[in-house]
Amino acid sequence: MGAVPKTKVSRHRRGNRRQHQRLDAPTLVVCPQCTQLMRAHRVCKSCGSYRGRQVIEQSSQSESE
Ligand SMILES: [Zn+2]
Repeated sequence: MGAVPKTKVSRHRRGNRRQHQRLDAPTLVVCPQCTQLMRAHRVCKSCGSYRGRQVIEQSSQSESE
């Protein structure tokens, strides 16, 4: 037999241990280019810009600049 727990861990104690394991919602910021919500520190999905620079060329979207 391998390592076996000596005593049962109660529901309270188990939940207490797992309280930090929850997933958080992704941090959303407003894009300075198109004012859409986007993930922080990532290229904007709707306008394709990052830090004021065009990274992904948009073909289907109507660009104003
Ligand atoms: Zn954008």
